[in-house]
Amino acid sequence: MNVTQYDYDLFVIGAGSGGVRASRMASQYGARVAVAEDIYLGGTCVNVGCVPKKLFVYGSHVSEELEGAAGYGWNLGAASFDWPTLRDNKTREVQRLNGVYRNILSSAGVELIEGRAHIDGPNSVTVAGKTYSAERILVATGGWPVIPEIPGKEHIISSNEAFYLERFPESVLVLGGGYIAVEFAGIFNGLGASTELVYRGPQILRGFDDEVREVTAREVAQKGVRITLNTNIEAVAKNPDGRFTVTLTSGEQRVVDCVMAATGRAPKIAGLGLENTAVTLTDKGTIAVNEDYQTTEPSIYALGDVIGGMELTPVALAEGMALAKNLYGKSAGLQTPVRVDYANIPTAVFCQPNIGTVGLTEAQALEKGYRLRVYCSDFKPMKHSLTGLGERTFMKLLVDDASDKVIGCHMVGPDAGEILQGIAVAMKAGATKADFDGTIGIHPTAAEEFVTMREPTRRVPAA
Ligand code: NDP
Repeated sequence: MNVTQYDYDLFVIGAGSGGVRASRMASQYGARVAVAEDIYLGGTCVNVGCVPKKLFVYGSHVSEELEGAAGYGWNLGAASFDWPTLRDNKTREVQRLNGVYRNILSSAGVELIEGRAHIDGPNSVTVAGKTYSAERILVATGGWPVIPEIPGKEHIISSNEAFYLERFPESVLVLGGGYIAVEFAGIFNGLGASTELVYRGPQILRGFDDEVREVTAREVAQKGVRITLNTNIEAVAKNPDGRFTVTLTSGEQRVVDCVMAATGRAPKIAGLGLENTAVTLTDKGTIAVNEDYQTTEPSIYALGDVIGGMELTPVALAEGMALAKNLYGKSAGLQTPVRVDYANIPTAVFCQPNIGTVGLTEAQALEKGYRLRVYCSDFKPMKHSLTGLGERTFMKLLVDDASDKVIGCHMVGPDAGEILQGIAVAMKAGATKADFDGTIGIHPTAAEEFVTMREPTRRVPAA
């Protein structure tokens, strides 16, 4: 069949980070592209993820700035916080970004089709009763929060609802120990709610470096979040006064204004019509793709959170860009195939203080057989010498003793995400510890500690 017999060269389902990037790049390379979206432009990141979350983190951090201000001579009087102001200002910014996304698509020549898309077959999609044909279909529908099957589940909110709460709760119980749970515990706590984090495992943030987990738990607790480990929720009941009684697996009960679960996200594929195609799923329920994001139905592609992997906006962006280049870039003179390098992807958790991390954890490095020099630093940031606040910063470098290469870098402290981005570039370029040592520090900063850690804290495994 000739390509021109299709309405579009590429029909993208989902205008989130990955879908928008793929569609606008494909269009710029000359493809005829449509993107269907049924909820909000910009997807999770812009609407109920990275962007509003970071705004809330900024907002919640103000309380600490106010607390520490007296040490710098500021007498600010009694401060108060107005939740509707933060919530609605955040929503206005999200709406502004929705408009920016709309403009990006239209100026790139991508047709936006609003409504829920249903795949009818390998080359056919229906949206709002109208059927479109396409040579290729891209599924970039992302993920959606999953709340465990707990009695009283209907009383539990996810992060989606936390962004739009009508009233700010005086007390919150957050279930989970991953990115979202730890970030939201910090947000609620900083904005003044009495906050408890309940996690089923022995330490929060499974998968991160063990020392980073310990330090983060220490700092988060020091700021006032109650952390309850090795515990899950057994049931939630609504009380006549509108509050909730949470029964924990320990048998203890808590009465709180709000219960939020941040217990992971699942691919958003229900009702998509994948059964009308040869698309298959992995055992995790994500869409199975090859290294070119092609599913087992050759005309259908998938990328971003819906294929699992690292559920991060920049990863979806990179995948979207690679796909567009590989499918349509050749005619624009690009060298293909382009492959996303999944090694050393830096990431940050915007808990308070932040975590920034890139490369291997100590446990992963040992498992891979490296002999390591481990450099650690745990110090009181200069700022807090006058604030009187007890926050400490932690930094850690893992160096392969044989090659001197830095293979892991971790930080818990203010602006850890900002600092680790630069370190990630160095690691991508293969920087050695000698390169770090030969770099002049920027003084006085916390970041300079990364280039002044002279003596290893330990060598592992022991010789
Ligand atoms: P995560 O997978 O990070 O964490 C889920 C947490 O919930 C884990 O602690 C997990 O425990 C726990 N959990 C899972 N199932 C249950 C259950 N049935 N009962 C009790 N606890 C349970 O998911 P999140 O929801 O926090 O975030 C989803 C993804 O979004 C992240 O993995 C990340 O990729 C991305 N994200 C990135 C951010 C960033 O870049 N700053 C911010 C927010 C999200 P266990 O560890 O024992 O499995």
